[in-house]
Amino acid sequence: MDNDRYEKESARDFALWKAPKPGEHFWETAIGPGRPGWHIECSAMAMKYLGETLDIHTGGIDLAFPHHENEIAQSEAATGKPFARYWMHAEHLLVEGEKMSKSLGNFFTLRDLFAKGYKPSALRFALASVPYRKQLNFTFDGLTQATNSVERLRNFADRLRKGKFAAGKQEGMAARIAKAAEEFDAGLSDDLNAARALAAVFDLVRDANIAMDKGEFRQGDVAAVQSFLATFDKVFAVLEDNDAQKLQALGYASAQAGLSDAEIEKLVAERNAAKKRRDFATADRIRKELADRGIILEDAKDGSVRWKRK
Ligand SMILES: [Zn+2]
Repeated sequence: MDNDRYEKESARDFALWKAPKPGEHFWETAIGPGRPGWHIECSAMAMKYLGETLDIHTGGIDLAFPHHENEIAQSEAATGKPFARYWMHAEHLLVEGEKMSKSLGNFFTLRDLFAKGYKPSALRFALASVPYRKQLNFTFDGLTQATNSVERLRNFADRLRKGKFAAGKQEGMAARIAKAAEEFDAGLSDDLNAARALAAVFDLVRDANIAMDKGEFRQGDVAAVQSFLATFDKVFAVLEDNDAQKLQALGYASAQAGLSDAEIEKLVAERNAAKKRRDFATADRIRKELADRGIILEDAKDGSVRWKRK
């Protein structure tokens, strides 16, 4: 059999070695000129670098048959050992409910999405939020929701860091945090069920936010919640507000790029000074200028100003 791809019904033996066709690359070898078939390339490379048994073999769901079955057949025939302990096959991405393809025109690159103003963290969150064995339906609504989810988490982390809470511990909160950590771990241990793990995070964030709103949250619980968030962020990596730097590092000049932290701080200071001398026209103009460049100002009750990138 000469084809690398075939239907299950027509499965016969597959080619380990291919004779050279005119114009194709080949090697002179002990068994004559030729080249390895697609499947054996993978077995050979994987075993060379990772050993005869791999811990985890990943791939798209379309590769399960025939490619991965053939990898198993030839590898295990050669070594007599299991080829991979775990197989993780990711489902395909849908775009607005349809298969992503160039012909349908529903094909987006990172550059397209960043040019529209979406952040790397939001995209990361959107892609990671659905278990890998499920088809992820990519939509712009979903991306906006992911943006809001990341924002919600960052605001919560900020509130923990800067909030003024009474001393001591809130009754039941330590157990509540421990339960969230347990459920987060159980979600990930459940074949990387990201949706379940994230539900544990957002449930705790909601409960803690409610406790803060009611004035019941206590300073003594802050460290445990922060430690839980750190565990979450080791996996999802969205808490740090570093999208602008990431875009720059990746070589994408975002629409909002251009203002450094120092430049923003300077404008914020100028606006504060304008407000102090009751020059509200100038203060408003600076606020608008920052907003146009994607910087949002939040005036706190105590007169201080926080800023963040949109
Ligand atoms: Zn392969």
